[in-house]
Amino acid sequence: MHGTLFVVSAPSGAGKTSLVKALVESTPGLHVSISHTTRPQRPGEVNGVNYHFVSQSQFNEMLERDAFLEHAEVFGNLYGTSNQSVRDQLQEGKDIILEIDWQGAQQVRKQSPHAVGVFILPPSKDVLQQRLVGRGQDSDSVINGRMAQSAEQISHYVEFDYLIINDQFDTALAELKSVIQSQRLRQAQQSIRHKALLRSLLS
Ligand code: GDP
Ligand code: ADP
Ligand code: 5GP
Repeated sequence: MHGTLFVVSAPSGAGKTSLVKALVESTPGLHVSISHTTRPQRPGEVNGVNYHFVSQSQFNEMLERDAFLEHAEVFGNLYGTSNQSVRDQLQEGKDIILEIDWQGAQQVRKQSPHAVGVFILPPSKDVLQQRLVGRGQDSDSVINGRMAQSAEQISHYVEFDYLIINDQFDTALAELKSVIQSQRLRQAQQSIRHKALLRSLLS
């Protein structure tokens, strides 16, 4: 059976990465896609775990051989999702989460209309800024740039199926889990999963 593609977007600092990490750790059969990026590695980030960190020329080489399912320039850096790993894992029946920006989400939606989109919001502008500062990984100028672009990013929330406010972390995590669960319970998915049961009940 084919897995489901979930796309999670948010303004930088809303808590997307923390929520997706906790979600994937507590949900069997759900995996996060590791993006390629030209952004400099942050302290504590591990190559091949958080991102595949690549040079501009390596990124361009991948673009030329059409290796990306989607790609975008975000805050002056290039980000992309490689085709191969996503396709292979979906084919194996795994559900995959892409943590990507709204431009990438638009590209994915065009190619995979059944992809499920989730947008995450912070409870206020002030809290968003506090989280970016509190994360302690970006310079003031990077934080100011991300704050300046937050409204533009947030304006794309209407393009997503679900909207989650990340105020209390555990509440937002439970809501995100229920999105995954309800998708898995859809009749079309369940009837494939429980084919034998249905055959015996109907005979
Ligand atoms: P953070 O979201 O503040 O932790 O910052 P990141 O540097 O991790 O991500 C920067 C932006 O790039 C975010 O908007 C991500 O959603 C986006 N992004 C990350 N990976 C991808 C990807 O593979 N494709 C696309 N299109 N966007 C991505
Ligand atoms: P994003 O991936 O959207 O940029 P992160 O997951 O890196 O965001 O979260 C930004 C910061 O906010 C991190 O330091 C994280 O620990 C913190 N954070 C995330 N969610 C919450 C929450 N509900 N309450 C308080 N702090 C949070
Ligand atoms: P950060 O540099 O803070 O890790 O991420 C900044 C932004 O880039 C986030 O909004 C994140 O979602 C986005 N991003 C990360 N990886 C990808 C990707 O592969 N594709 C796209 N389109 N955006 C990405």
